[in-house]
Amino acid sequence: MEKLYFIIGSQDLYGEECLKQVAADGREMVEFLKGKLSGIVDIELLPTVETADICVKNMRKAVNDDDCVGVITWMHTFSPAKMWIKGLQELNKPLLHLHTQANEKLPYDEIDMDFMNLNQAAHGDREYGYIVARLGIPHEVVAGYYKHDNVVARICQFAQVAKAINLSKNTMIATFGNNMRDVAVTDGNRLEAQIKYGWEVKYYGIGDVVKLANAATDAEVDAKMAEYESKYTMATDRIDVVREQARYEVGLEKFIAKNKATCFTDTFQDLYGLNQLPGIAAQNLMGKGIGFGPEGDYKISAFSAILMKMAEGRDGATGFIEDYTYDMTEGQELELASHMLEVPPQFAVNKPEIQVHPLGIGGKSDPARLVFDGVTGDGIQVTLVDMGDHFRIICADVELVKQPKPMPKLPVARIMYRHKPDFAIGTAAWCYAGGAHHSVISTALNRSDIAMFARLTGTELITIGDDTTEADLQKFFTK
Ligand code: MN
Repeated sequence: MEKLYFIIGSQDLYGEECLKQVAADGREMVEFLKGKLSGIVDIELLPTVETADICVKNMRKAVNDDDCVGVITWMHTFSPAKMWIKGLQELNKPLLHLHTQANEKLPYDEIDMDFMNLNQAAHGDREYGYIVARLGIPHEVVAGYYKHDNVVARICQFAQVAKAINLSKNTMIATFGNNMRDVAVTDGNRLEAQIKYGWEVKYYGIGDVVKLANAATDAEVDAKMAEYESKYTMATDRIDVVREQARYEVGLEKFIAKNKATCFTDTFQDLYGLNQLPGIAAQNLMGKGIGFGPEGDYKISAFSAILMKMAEGRDGATGFIEDYTYDMTEGQELELASHMLEVPPQFAVNKPEIQVHPLGIGGKSDPARLVFDGVTGDGIQVTLVDMGDHFRIICADVELVKQPKPMPKLPVARIMYRHKPDFAIGTAAWCYAGGAHHSVISTALNRSDIAMFARLTGTELITIGDDTTEADLQKFFTK
């Protein structure tokens, strides 16, 4: 299981008794937080930082432990911050500065100089905060008594974002075929994405998957079909067409496992050797947390996997979507979002149906796909674009709604949502900001999660919601 290291700051001037108490309070705090964060991350207490050497050792331990996704620091006493410089300079993982105390209330009747010297986060945490700011290290400050619900919630959020960043640093995107010809927003600087986020973007010929798909045994295809039938309703008698998708998924799964990929892209301009565009094959994989980007969109493929990881364990749905068409009824504007086939089953409000229909473009055989109506509730739409000299995340608050009427002739899965603060400002803001037509919709994550990810990765963030006004629009356009 992923873990966070918990590091307490002090110094060796205080004497043995004081340092014993610091360690004991640290153990109590870590035990409490371990309980609260169980199922998300483990937390492990490292030796109290009394000297620069201990700090360096602790940070190196965090850096070298593959299970460690981040570090929490707290200054129980004053801890002269020059001794943190070398260690912090070596830390390359998300950092949380927990500004808290072992005691909730001041013991007014009992307080003496010993108590004040032992419990001086107000003093030590500011000294420490200064050096983190001075070093320019991206970090998160959470302030408040550590047992308070809002503080625990923020630490949980940090743990989830840190796990997502850890996945980001271990992301391998297998791109089958290149970026779809002429499409702009799906392209971008792959080298910069690797330097900034750790994404390895590796090109493969689709033939590498075709070979594995063709080699799938009847037993493997049968097992995949059984998986489909356990999760979805078979609403077609063209079983051979579905079996072909099952064969693709077996091939893709083997490829992903063999090459340690965490996500993939395809493009219907390069499907040589496949009779169908992967539909249910891609959908079912997204349902398991594998990132997918159509039209060679490596960014949304990686970003969707990272945000699915961030949302792990929370209620709600998270996944890739494409903006498609609008209902522009005045004052009741809605968006219908979908894709040609590849809408993740996380969004299903009903049991998805396996259906087979022709595909209007691409010149391939009729593909099998999952069809369903979408979930409802408050959510966010978030995307990541390459602005030439930097990456930009755009996060818009949306309300997912029930589709007003059935759409019996639309043979794809779909979701619908309302923009905020309204259609005119919300969608214009997205356009001004250069938001992509590929994004991640989530009813599990919120703006604050995305803001934390943006801060910890040093990415520009533009937010759109009820607090967005017409006067903000041109601001988004300014680079
Ligand atoms: Mn698309």
